[in-house]
Amino acid sequence: MKEKKYELGKIMKVQFFDLKRQYNSIKDEINFSINTVLDSQRFIMGEVVEEFEENVAKYCNCKHAIGVASGTDALLLSVKAHDIFGDVITSTFTFFATAGAIHNAGATPRFIDIEHETFNIDPQKIKKNLKEDDKNIEAVMPVHLFGKPAEMDEIIEIADDYDLAIIEDAAQTIGAEYNGKKIGSTGTTCFSFFPTKNLGGFGDGGLITTNDDEIAVKIKTLRVHGAKPKYYHHIIGYNSRLDAIQAAVLDVKLKYLDGWIQNRIKNANIYNKALKDIEELELPQTSNNEKHGFNQYTIRVKYNLRDELKDFLDSRDIGTAVYYPLPLHLQPCFSSLNYKKGDLTNAELASNEVLSLPIFPELEKEEIEYTIENIIEFFKDN
Ligand SMILES: *Cc1c(COP(=O)(O)O)cnc(C)c1O
Repeated sequence: MKEKKYELGKIMKVQFFDLKRQYNSIKDEINFSINTVLDSQRFIMGEVVEEFEENVAKYCNCKHAIGVASGTDALLLSVKAHDIFGDVITSTFTFFATAGAIHNAGATPRFIDIEHETFNIDPQKIKKNLKEDDKNIEAVMPVHLFGKPAEMDEIIEIADDYDLAIIEDAAQTIGAEYNGKKIGSTGTTCFSFFPTKNLGGFGDGGLITTNDDEIAVKIKTLRVHGAKPKYYHHIIGYNSRLDAIQAAVLDVKLKYLDGWIQNRIKNANIYNKALKDIEELELPQTSNNEKHGFNQYTIRVKYNLRDELKDFLDSRDIGTAVYYPLPLHLQPCFSSLNYKKGDLTNAELASNEVLSLPIFPELEKEEIEYTIENIIEFFKDN
């Protein structure tokens, strides 16, 4: 840790995220919407949920949108709805829920390495894995990590060649676009409304979009214990519904989502411009065929300096986070899958290098500048 005093004079606290600012900016509207549900005393399913689902379907330009209890459940129910019990190819560098849901649905995750530049699953490595052994592989679950769309053109081509289902983990990526289309407009796509996601509820929540009528019916059945009609069960499902109160909050917030993403992009551009000449850093890349959702602004810190930079920023009251410190192929709970250190090296290196900086939409310009000044100061001395 650096002992040196901060020399730029100004001291402030920069939180990694501050949800209060967003709430305060639309408090009356949200409270009114919640009160409508309280007055109705209709908390499970009903009109408010349906209206929100319709609005997300419209927003994502997709036929069906089905609210569920969490992003994790969105993944779980999707794997179930696709009748997948074999292997599901997915990224090793993601939040645990991606693989946890695959396992809990009765399938097995097969972990694939990421591309160094994008943090997303590497299509070439998917192909290689399939060429070596495709006996048991039934689906691919790409993750659009940090808000950046995965290489879907290549993934769709591979899935077509090998007859694989595609279930997208877009928990971090609502509002992002790929080839001019919203994420969630094509295949079965899973979203999360965890409070810190781009569209955050006041608790847990999730949603699945799909254009497939049959899959939609199945997911709608699975979320109510598999009942169709009520009290008659051909399949065993779950209790996994989006609460009406959450839908009431989210429906208000949905109108603001694009504006908030614009702010995230603006913040990302400020960082990009200010940090681009620091040799020890690699900054997030965006390509022309996408709109990055920037749920996270995640840099790489080379030469094993990540933890030292994080400590330094902590000492200056600047909140940062490491997403994720251990790739999933090395998690103890998956030891029976027999992966070992050195198997998926891009992800392992990323785990040592990544650092996410504050990017939330309501971040003040001075807070970003203070963060930038301190990062520059750290590398000046290194
Ligand atoms: C947040 C997240 C999930 C899980 O969503 P919850 O709503 O918290 O259950 C799944 N996958 C990824 C990549 C996530 O970031």
